[in-house]
Amino acid sequence: MNTTLEICMQELERRRTTALIRQAERLERISREIPQVIAVRKELGLTSVRLSRMILEKQTDLAQGIEQLKGANLALQAREKELLTAHGFPADYLELHYTCPHCKDTGFVNGQRCTCLDALIRQTRLAELNRVSNMQLSSFSTFQLGYYSTEVDPATGVVPRRIMEEIFQFCRHYADAFRPDSRGIFMIGDTGLGKTHLSLAIAQAVIAKGFPVAYGSAQDFLRAVEEEHFGRAAVNRDTLNSLLDVDLLIFDDLGAEFASSFNLSTVYNLINTRCNRRKPTIISTNLSTQELEERYSQRVVSRLFSLLDCLRFVGRDIRQIRSRQQK
Ligand SMILES: [Zn+2]
Repeated sequence: MNTTLEICMQELERRRTTALIRQAERLERISREIPQVIAVRKELGLTSVRLSRMILEKQTDLAQGIEQLKGANLALQAREKELLTAHGFPADYLELHYTCPHCKDTGFVNGQRCTCLDALIRQTRLAELNRVSNMQLSSFSTFQLGYYSTEVDPATGVVPRRIMEEIFQFCRHYADAFRPDSRGIFMIGDTGLGKTHLSLAIAQAVIAKGFPVAYGSAQDFLRAVEEEHFGRAAVNRDTLNSLLDVDLLIFDDLGAEFASSFNLSTVYNLINTRCNRRKPTIISTNLSTQELEERYSQRVVSRLFSLLDCLRFVGRDIRQIRSRQQK
């Protein structure tokens, strides 16, 4: 299987080839419509031949000759641009148009990764992560409030339907008004109350608006970061960087992951760094506040509550209700 970097390098190669093909197409068009331009370009090609000959023949007044050729060259280039613009084409119409002029789609500038390659790697990694997450995006329209009781729940004293209506509206509004510096959300509640459904509905709406989103279970994301961290091949930190940088991170089912010190510090790093960068994270968990504190320490949990808008899901497991109704 190809590594992320290999996939990205193939993409850059495709971009370079495309740039060459497009240029050839433009040349073809100009040779039909403004043949004088092609004559000028041939002349331009000849000046470089003349220059090499001058150097090979060790001409005595080489410096002067080079100056003359340079002058002729500039005049020809100006002539080409003049002809193009006079016929309504942009002056740079026949130049190679790269996706990234900075690195000419090679991915590197002075031996360093170009920002376009970094972006491409993050984008590719994100697509891979979302593919392995095995979670299907959902929508608000399929969320059924009818599954939540309209009776007062004796244990909590609240009407689940009313609370869930508020939560549903909150999430819909959040998705509508989403910006890359929106606050994050902390969804707490027992299993089967719709946390994953609503967070994936937000994900779908935000993706539709054109923002990159990573969505998956805490367990899967942490496994991917861990494999990369301890893997033999990987010196890169692309998975972690993708999760740190993405505009919206959906971190589902926090607490279901293996409680290792590596996972604990990665969870803390992810939440903390994303909050410092003002990037929103939607975390959901089936754990109670007390269970969270036992697992991640009071300090981490109080930070979560202060940084994220907390939604407490209530009701009875709608998956059980649904399967009972289907029987
Ligand atoms: Zn570049």
